[in-house]
Amino acid sequence: PLVLGIESSCDETGVGIVRGTQLLANTVATSMDEHVRYGGVVPEVASRAHVQAIGPAIREALATAGVGLDDLDAIAVTAGPGLSGALLVGVSAAKGLAAATGKQLYGLNHLAAHVAVDLVAPDAPGLELPTIALLVSGGHTEILRIDDIVDGIELLGSTIDDAAGEAFDKTARLLGLDYPGGPNISKAAAGAFDPEGRPGDPHAVSFPRGLMTGKDLRRPERRYAFSFSGLKTAALRFTTADGGRTRQADVAASFEQAVVDVLVAKTMLAVEDTGIDRVLLGGGVAANARLRETLGQACAAAGVALRVPPLSLCTDNGAMIAALGAEVVRRGLPPSDPGFGVTSSLEASDVRV
Ligand code: ATP
Ligand code: MG
Ligand code: FE
Repeated sequence: PLVLGIESSCDETGVGIVRGTQLLANTVATSMDEHVRYGGVVPEVASRAHVQAIGPAIREALATAGVGLDDLDAIAVTAGPGLSGALLVGVSAAKGLAAATGKQLYGLNHLAAHVAVDLVAPDAPGLELPTIALLVSGGHTEILRIDDIVDGIELLGSTIDDAAGEAFDKTARLLGLDYPGGPNISKAAAGAFDPEGRPGDPHAVSFPRGLMTGKDLRRPERRYAFSFSGLKTAALRFTTADGGRTRQADVAASFEQAVVDVLVAKTMLAVEDTGIDRVLLGGGVAANARLRETLGQACAAAGVALRVPPLSLCTDNGAMIAALGAEVVRRGLPPSDPGFGVTSSLEASDVRV
């Protein structure tokens, strides 16, 4: 099936077009630059940017794919989770398109789509299941068990406070680094801002690892859960007390290592507990080299296959929604009720609304 997918849950306006498992177009506009001065995504600003970007993005994706609206078999759109106002722009646009063309419309889950995107990754043998998925971005931090992409998703654990990317963004600000903090903390840790270009020592500062005590790991609801607010507070306390004596590269590397250690440890716990020997990494924080490297080593040591889709497919995009849409259509599943709305906290297991 030929499916157009629209994504607008956060600060990316994405339109992707997929034919079966073939990726034909993936147009992404981001309002990231507009959020820089606030140090994080401002919902109202993101919504306004989606309104401006959505029309041109749809036109550009169709042109790139070389298809017309009439050729489509269906339209898919992110219905949640995400920022309500941002989601509403994509859903409204999708409903308009569906009404004008008479095409079937599917409201889909953003988290499932982060996994489904591997169906259309040019370098992938397709989505291999079952897999454990680690989704890490500015808005989410989840460990999922995926037995089936449409009706076999189980949330094992998520963050109880900040998302991993959010922790990077907030700590970056503390260190005087611009938003988005993730890439800047990585650069700082690698020594890019060091006068001598010396990389940071990831063991220079001992930062806390959230929810990693034996007691936490024995409690089922905490075993795969994350907490980064203590780490953020520790970073604030450390920088205040330190008064700039410790090199920025050392603080950044130590912070990065603390986040990565917990993400990797809990993912490997899920692997051990379930006996599933595959891990898929997704979300914008997949851009983090230390995370990819550390997770790669842990998986290799455990005899587990690690899959990381190309980065352009890890960050928010429309192709992931189109990919999930094509799979849903391929299975002959019915479209969403025309009156469906957006659900900012849509559960991971609710793949279709
Ligand atoms: P959502 O949560 O809905 O997926 P988002 O826009 O917050 O939306 P992405 O666009 O996928 O998420 O990713 C952006 C996040 O990834 C930001 O928080 C950014 O700091 C983080 N990030 C990007 N590159 C890196 C990196 N090299 N290291 C750590 N974090 C990174
Ligand atoms: Mg983003
Ligand atoms: Fe996302």
